[in-house]
This record gives sequence, structure tokens and C-alpha cells, in this order.
Amino acid sequence: MARVGYSSDNVAPSVFNLDRLKLQKEEVARVLCIEQDALFEHVHYVENENDKEARGSFICLGDPKVLGQEGYDDNCPLCEAARTYSCVGQSSRRFLSYIFKYRTTKKGVLEKPLSASLLLWVFGEGVYSNLVKKREEWGDLRKHDLLLGPCQAERFQKFSIEICSDALWLKDEQLKAMFIQTYKESKFADAELTKVLGRRVDANAMMGIVRKSCGVAPSVDATVGVVASGDLDLDSILNPTVKEDSEVASSSEGTKKAQVKKDAKPEVASEVASSVDLNDTMDFDALLNDI
Ligand SMILES: [Zn+2]
Repeated sequence: MARVGYSSDNVAPSVFNLDRLKLQKEEVARVLCIEQDALFEHVHYVENENDKEARGSFICLGDPKVLGQEGYDDNCPLCEAARTYSCVGQSSRRFLSYIFKYRTTKKGVLEKPLSASLLLWVFGEGVYSNLVKKREEWGDLRKHDLLLGPCQAERFQKFSIEICSDALWLKDEQLKAMFIQTYKESKFADAELTKVLGRRVDANAMMGIVRKSCGVAPSVDATVGVVASGDLDLDSILNPTVKEDSEVASSSEGTKKAQVKKDAKPEVASEVASSVDLNDTMDFDALLNDI
């Protein structure tokens, strides 16, 4: 048993409290990708003006291989709904990586003394492709700062990305020590970070979200053993035990799929990670990951 004072120092750390990269309109930022790869999930965005529980990003239950080939997997109720209803977005990859943002003016001019803050950068397929090209052309992104901006639209975080020939943190011993210590002390496990990308719910809950947000259930869902939409609605309303059974079935299915997805890695990122420059004088992995 213990007692705790009402102080922010005593609040349990949460991925939802981490600061994220968000540029203001016209802002230019200088950042450093401190990680060699990005965490990703396939997610759907669901629109619902009236119910925030049914709105937002949800992690797709589709098989990544099927999603890569077809763009959807009907084993995921949201994939199925996205083909019919405009309130459910198609499955798309969302990425997340830790970066350091240097302290600068709004126009990107460095402020002395040099300092930086650790942020999460959440981005989509376009930015990922852009970073892959930079990595292929310039090598390890931890040796090159990035200039982002000027930001054209704050709401959409639309900005260009330019690469610098050097990385300031490697030229300043104090800054380098600060980057390493801050990253090591602050980073969360991937299983926690993934919550930032979307909510993970089972197939049955997804069907409830479709009903709430689109007004109708998807016609058929093979994964949960529910036979038809007409029967589904009546069963849910009139006979709660049927609903519970299907929840159990879909829950185990969802867990199995989640496990498969967790082990999956983005193909391009794997290639990039495995082609580390042999001439590196700094062992980033040892410094940053206690290997
Ligand atoms: Zn899906």
C-alpha cells in the first residue's frame, strides 16, 4: 500500500501524452530521425460526427499480404464496409517514428544554445516513400538532419522534406549525449506505441462501429460466423447471448490476426535496415538500444 501526491511527476507515463510533430502554417522545422525504421499499422479512418467512440482510426484486421495485393481484405469488417460506405476510409498504412526537433525560429533558424525535443512523427505512405528515397540516396538518416516545410496547411501537415548534408547532433558532444539519453529513457515498447496509430478492436466491435457510423451492417462477415446482416441485427437486439458467442469467436480471431500483424515488417524498411554502411564509425544500435 502506498500514497501518492497530486503531482504531474507521479502520473504514469502514457503514449497518449507524448508530444507529436505538428508544424504551424508556414513553419520550417529542422529534425533528426533517431530511428532506423518506422512502426506501422494498416488502419481505417471512420467518420462519425455524433459519436466519438465510433470515430477515429481503427487497426485493420486484414492480412498484410492480402492488403498489399488487393488493397482490402474482406475478413476485416471495415475493409468490407469501406467498399460500400463513404464514412469508412480504405485501409492504409500509418507510420510512426521518434524524431528530435531542434529548437529554431518559426522560419527554421537555429537558436543558441542548441537544443532539441523528442517527438513522435506520425505519417502516411507519401512521407514514408519520400524517406525511403532519402535513405537510398544519402544513407543512414541519423547522419543527416531533415528540413521540413514551410508547412502549407497545418490541418493536413503538408510540407516538403529536404535533407541536410550533416547532422548537428553528431557535431556537438553535449547534444549527442542528450539525444542518446533522452531517447533511451523515453522510448516506449512497440506494443504501446501502436496505440497511437489506431484502436485495436475485434471484428464484432467493428461491425458495431459500422452500424453506428454508416447506419447499416456490412452484408456478410465470414470471420465471425454470423450468417447474414438481417439475422445479425435481430439476434443482437432480441437475443444477447448470440451476440456474446460471436464476440468470443471474433475476439480470438482478432487476437490471432493481431499476432501475425505484429510480426510483420515493412519490406522496404527491412532492406534499408539490413544495408547499414560498413564504414560507420558510430555504432548507433549499441548507443541507442543497449545491445
Ligand atoms: Zn480492414
